[in-house]
Amino acid sequence: MQQKQNPNSYRMPERFVRRRKALRAIQLKQEGALRTIWRRISSQLTRQNASYMRIHGKDYVLTLSERASFKAYLQRAISHAANNTFSLIKSAMREAIRLELKMVTLQYNISLEDIDINKVQYALRDKLLAKPFPGTDLTLQQRIRAYAGKAMLNIAPYIDLETQAERDSAMKVIRKQMSYAKPGSAGVPGGTISKDIARLNRTEQARAVREADLLAYKVADLDFLHWRLGPGHNWEDGLEICEKLAAGMGAGVETELIEAGIDTSTVDLEGLYNAAAFPAIPHPNCICSAVPIVFEKHNQNK
Ligand SMILES: [Zn+2]
Repeated sequence: MQQKQNPNSYRMPERFVRRRKALRAIQLKQEGALRTIWRRISSQLTRQNASYMRIHGKDYVLTLSERASFKAYLQRAISHAANNTFSLIKSAMREAIRLELKMVTLQYNISLEDIDINKVQYALRDKLLAKPFPGTDLTLQQRIRAYAGKAMLNIAPYIDLETQAERDSAMKVIRKQMSYAKPGSAGVPGGTISKDIARLNRTEQARAVREADLLAYKVADLDFLHWRLGPGHNWEDGLEICEKLAAGMGAGVETELIEAGIDTSTVDLEGLYNAAAFPAIPHPNCICSAVPIVFEKHNQNK
């Protein structure tokens, strides 16, 4: 089972590609809004600083109580940004679930008549919101809070700087850290808050899409799903977790197929899992798909 040397050997059907593009459009819209939310912090900081300078003159050193109120102001601004981020990502997840249910039902001729799509959107989203991301113990809201805390830590020393020149150069660093700058560029040691948040947004939408897929496949009685690498996947010699999942097989899958009267020599077993035990998205920015396999028996059962 070594034929999948090149992950691009799996080409998504045209409908899948269009579906991904539609989802990507939601993400881009969200990312623009999320970037604005976090960029606003640096302009609030500049404005707050300017108001002290206007009152006291250029190189005025803030008193301890002024610093404390400056920090409290900043804390409020950041927690406001975190709350807005949470609600934006939440609504994008709901939108992604609705879109995916619509598209996947078209793709596989699945009828969702028995399901109240409006209710399901919320139910699936809330299920994910309560579930920590694999490998962390943190829910989405907690992860956003962690990034907000990091932003506060990065910014707080700014307030203790004494001269205007010091503040101006610190402000440049903060602006960069709030921006979408590349990690490793000047003043951006390990990524920026906008990038962190954009990644959260993309990952949560991918999870939402996966939940929608699993629900639709369950309704349609499609019990076996392939783990397929997305076309943009960077091949890492089969060592990366998704590559292992795409090459592996769920425990007991072969037996289940045989018990269901299916000739396993006609089935691509690589990356095949029982839908009920399909692996969770294992890392941020995962673009892999769950692709169902349709056996004759499903059509007969209908
Ligand atoms: Zn993946």
